[in-house]
Amino acid sequence: MEALDGTDGRESMPPEGFTSAGDPVCWLEQVCDECGALIEAALPATCWRCGATLLPS
Ligand SMILES: [Zn+2]
Repeated sequence: MEALDGTDGRESMPPEGFTSAGDPVCWLEQVCDECGALIEAALPATCWRCGATLLPS
């Protein structure tokens, strides 16, 4: 499932300097759907905050 127009939404522009070295993995995948926590581990992973399972899309 993708949150196309959901909670987080897209603000205007990404924070400058966020993409450091052309990371091929979109960091949005690393955000927990349930609680919005940023998951730094490789997917699939378990959310450290709420325990939800994050799957790579
Ligand atoms: Zn979570």
